[in-house]
Amino acid sequence: MSDGAGWLELPPERMRELGHRVVDLVVDHLTGLRAQPVRTGAAPDDLRHVLDEPPPEQPADPGLLVEFLTNEVLPRSLRLGHPGCLAFIPSASNFLGVLGDLLASGFNTSPGAWPVGAGPAAVELVTARWLADLLGLPEGAGGVFTPGGTLANLTAIAAARDDRLGEDASGGVLYCSDQTHPAVLRACRVLGLGRDQVRVLPVLDAARVLAAVHADRAAGLRPFLVLANAGTTSAGAIDPLPELAALSRAEGLWLHVDGAHGAAAALTERGRTALRGLGEADSVVIDPHKWLFQPYEIGCVLVRDPEVLRRAFTIDRFRAGADYLTASRPAAAETNLSDHGVQFTTAARALKLWLSLKGFGVAAFRAAIDHGLDQAEHVAARVAASHELDLVAGPSLGIVCLRYRHGPDEVQTAICRTINDSGGTFIATTTVDGVLALRLCTINPRTTRADLDGVLTAIVAAGRTANSTRLTPR
Ligand SMILES: *Cc1c(COP(=O)(O)O)cnc(C)c1O
Repeated sequence: MSDGAGWLELPPERMRELGHRVVDLVVDHLTGLRAQPVRTGAAPDDLRHVLDEPPPEQPADPGLLVEFLTNEVLPRSLRLGHPGCLAFIPSASNFLGVLGDLLASGFNTSPGAWPVGAGPAAVELVTARWLADLLGLPEGAGGVFTPGGTLANLTAIAAARDDRLGEDASGGVLYCSDQTHPAVLRACRVLGLGRDQVRVLPVLDAARVLAAVHADRAAGLRPFLVLANAGTTSAGAIDPLPELAALSRAEGLWLHVDGAHGAAAALTERGRTALRGLGEADSVVIDPHKWLFQPYEIGCVLVRDPEVLRRAFTIDRFRAGADYLTASRPAAAETNLSDHGVQFTTAARALKLWLSLKGFGVAAFRAAIDHGLDQAEHVAARVAASHELDLVAGPSLGIVCLRYRHGPDEVQTAICRTINDSGGTFIATTTVDGVLALRLCTINPRTTRADLDGVLTAIVAAGRTANSTRLTPR
């Protein structure tokens, strides 16, 4: 190995053997999800052998290491694609998406600069355009992919800020509701927007926003952005997009819609009706690693006018003697996606979405999303018909919030604990308008109606038990 070759290489036969083994393990995992527990927790002490290990100076058998990761590390998680996982936003990824990621990392190309990764850049551009089309944005809309919804929102807010406020954002004010995702508020903070620049309203309706805008203008401030939700993560609630769009247009504000969870519903007829006005936004975020069934990580920010992204992020704006980049400059009609967002080098993360959208066809995605909407409606109907359950919120965009009728908050949390300890189902609690509720997110196509009926039966049974324990004097 005196010329340096071979240090980090394996013989081709060994690469194939390990690769096939990994594919087998992944297929076993995906096809065997139902037989696994929905969650295997671990305390830091259970993972001491992982946490405390010193740097491994000497090689070990990669076959054994793959088995170690598969048996000891990866199972110690919440299985977000498990049919019984109804907490958070479940992510039922798909195998074509997995293969897209494998190709992206195997070929290790980057779509950031056209002269570097023209093919992957083309796939990224067309896939973003497909999403813009599917969400009802106008012709000419496009965007970039990000690691997730957090950075997609950050990208949109930065573009809005620069477009509406210019170089100096002082006095700029944005409007959002108290249901805005904390990751979005953190993005505002990261962008240097202080607390005094973020108006958090209890309800984001046009009248309230308008009143706040007038008050802020009168105080010499510069309103520039409305941050609406198309599906709050807590309850799937949707801000009134058509009236916010009209208001934003009239007042010269940028309308951004965080659809990280909910925007995907616009692929269906019901969802498109519920999300009326989405296409009028200046920017929209969608998280394909949520309701478009992609493996982590992939988020996407779409803008009505991609030129806005380029103006905000082009490297030329920040150029300080980066002449080594000359070879990566795009020619006319080429696009350097690293000029359109925060990241410079990126993974070719659109490959997985492209591969699964084309391989299964958009119709299959529509059907899978529709199924999630059906499931939430089914749960809500069962709750409404029950004498022991109350509907608290929804069904909205695949989320239903409910309560066991005959118990205070401690009974609701006891129910959640009992269900989650049972091993087959994982749910969460949330608070809707001050009311503690059990929250079910039904967007995983692997979850059956029988699963959901079983969960409701278990909730009632756990509620009865918790209540009788509570009421029985000891
Ligand atoms: C999940 C989510 C986010 C954060 O996105 P990540 O992909 O987790 O970074 C932001 N907003 C909403 C509404 C979400 O559901």
